[in-house]
Amino acid sequence: MDKLVLASNNAGKLREFGALLATVDFEVLPQSRFNVPEAEEPHCTFIENAIAKARHAARFTGLPALADDSGLCVDALGGAPGVLSARYAGEPKSDARNNEKLIADLAGQSNRRAHYHCALVLVRHANDPQPVIAEGEWHGEIIDAPRGQNGFGYDPYFWLPDFACAVAELDAEKKNAVSHRGKALAALIAKLQSRAGR
Ligand code: IMP
Repeated sequence: MDKLVLASNNAGKLREFGALLATVDFEVLPQSRFNVPEAEEPHCTFIENAIAKARHAARFTGLPALADDSGLCVDALGGAPGVLSARYAGEPKSDARNNEKLIADLAGQSNRRAHYHCALVLVRHANDPQPVIAEGEWHGEIIDAPRGQNGFGYDPYFWLPDFACAVAELDAEKKNAVSHRGKALAALIAKLQSRAGR
């Protein structure tokens, strides 16, 4: 089985990818296995950062690499926290402080629309001129009080009108079936299959 390095150190993402990638024909290894240092994420779009992370992990390990750059975009905040989602409240990264800042920033705001965005990039090697790229979005609303214990990041505050619950109230299987990450990965796998059939 071919090896593939997963370019993330985020425990929540790694858990979700573990389930999402269970059916692919790769031995998927987290980048921590190779002591890959955290990549720079200097860009203002998810896709540019995902490409940078994938190339960084591939360069460091000599293996094909899959990277995810994702985050929460809130309409009333002009798309923030966006690519800064992991560090919205500064260093060190903290989901609790990020959520606290998000709710404070939205105080008095009636427009609560938001979406998660996920950019996925697969490179065969560090300088791959043809990365496989897929993106996914998941729409909902920000609520003021947390609900549920599952997921990670902003999930307790991300309300899903279609499910009448917060993301953190969904089990992992349901989240993966409909999330930004699940959608992006399904699109990436479809692209890989169509490339293989060429
Ligand atoms: P990245 O690791 O630089 O891509 O940052 C991802 C950040 O976006 C996470 O630390 C979370 O704050 C947020 N995020 C991305 N996906 C999710 C999700 O599925 N649930 C909750 N927060 C998410």
